[in-house]
Amino acid sequence: MSTFVDETPWTTELEELRARNLYRVMPVVSGLPGRTIQVNGHEALNFSGNNYLSLAAHPDIIQAYALGAERYGAGSTASRLIAGNGESHRELEAFIARWKGTEAAVAFVSGYQANVGILTAMTGCEDLIVSDELNHASIIDGCRLSRAKVAVYPHLDLNRMEDLVQGNGFRRTLVVTESVFSMDGHRSPLREISAICRRHGAFLMVDEAHATGVFGQQGQGWASQQGVMPDIQMGTLGKAVGTSGAYAAGSRPLMEILINRARSLIYTTAAPPAVVCSALAALKLISSEEGERRRAALEENTITFNELLKSIPGHVSAVSHIVPVLVGDSARALRMSRACLEGGVFAQAIRYPTVPEGTARLRFTLMSSHTRADLQKAVSVLKTALDQEEP
Ligand SMILES: *Cc1c(COP(=O)(O)O)cnc(C)c1O
Repeated sequence: MSTFVDETPWTTELEELRARNLYRVMPVVSGLPGRTIQVNGHEALNFSGNNYLSLAAHPDIIQAYALGAERYGAGSTASRLIAGNGESHRELEAFIARWKGTEAAVAFVSGYQANVGILTAMTGCEDLIVSDELNHASIIDGCRLSRAKVAVYPHLDLNRMEDLVQGNGFRRTLVVTESVFSMDGHRSPLREISAICRRHGAFLMVDEAHATGVFGQQGQGWASQQGVMPDIQMGTLGKAVGTSGAYAAGSRPLMEILINRARSLIYTTAAPPAVVCSALAALKLISSEEGERRRAALEENTITFNELLKSIPGHVSAVSHIVPVLVGDSARALRMSRACLEGGVFAQAIRYPTVPEGTARLRFTLMSSHTRADLQKAVSVLKTALDQEEP
């Protein structure tokens, strides 16, 4: 029996990644996800999760999960089009459509799959997709898989976007943007974007991954807060909602197109009913007064964090609950993230290709449950890490 396996291509590539400070490992976290967390055995304040409203460990949501599992089992057993579409899935989609004020909604197993499914279902090789340069990898992959022509505009440059939208000879034009940008925290001017789309007969898709639950009445999202109704909105259930999965919401015919065409929905096993039950419980909480209270606390924390950051010379501001501290160089981002963790603050280093080369950063994400003392500690630990970097 020969045991020779040629590992050279992989080890060479890994060496290259290490040399460029782009090598990645997965930190191990333990304990219930809250404002504190254990990372590789270090107890730390958590500024890296997307659990903005602190719902991932909420007892009612955990209970909905447990009841869902008892009632419907551990797995869904099949694709939703075969035998995996349970009552819970239907109930979740009905709730989302009502909450969003759309005719219908479709749930996906993840936001990645939702974006790939939506973009490939709505467009093909006769179409044009106009996309912000900082859109999430799942949008980029959806654009690639759709085989549409893709025109990328500089981040939030609406003049350039409008030029591109006027491309001729396409069957359909679709503009796609995040509503709150995942790595920068910027909010999209959706009113203006929507007006441009209207003017030129383009469809608008908005990714509300980081705004669902956080902005708008009952946490409907940033589009709702801006008074905009995109042709299609997607959002995830794994961030502020605290569970897992994603949704698309829009007109009934468009949702039927997804069911008929979105391969990432058709050719994957449906989300486990327990997950779906817990997501529904979380959305009910998000749209209640308790959700309102948590949103207000998160907003308060964003304001406070911004105030505290002013003590850092020439640095950052918190434009939303996502706060990037740009440091430029990948090695520096890694060193600083390590220094923060040693100081008891978990803020991940974000590097290329998640962000453009030369824009590596520490990314702080805020939670409604962070206390003022937590925010103060984060800023003081960040300051120390920055001081250690100055020559
Ligand atoms: C996280 C994220 C996704 C993917 O959602 P998952 O449910 O984690 O797969 C899509 N779009 C944006 C902007 C995101 O930040």
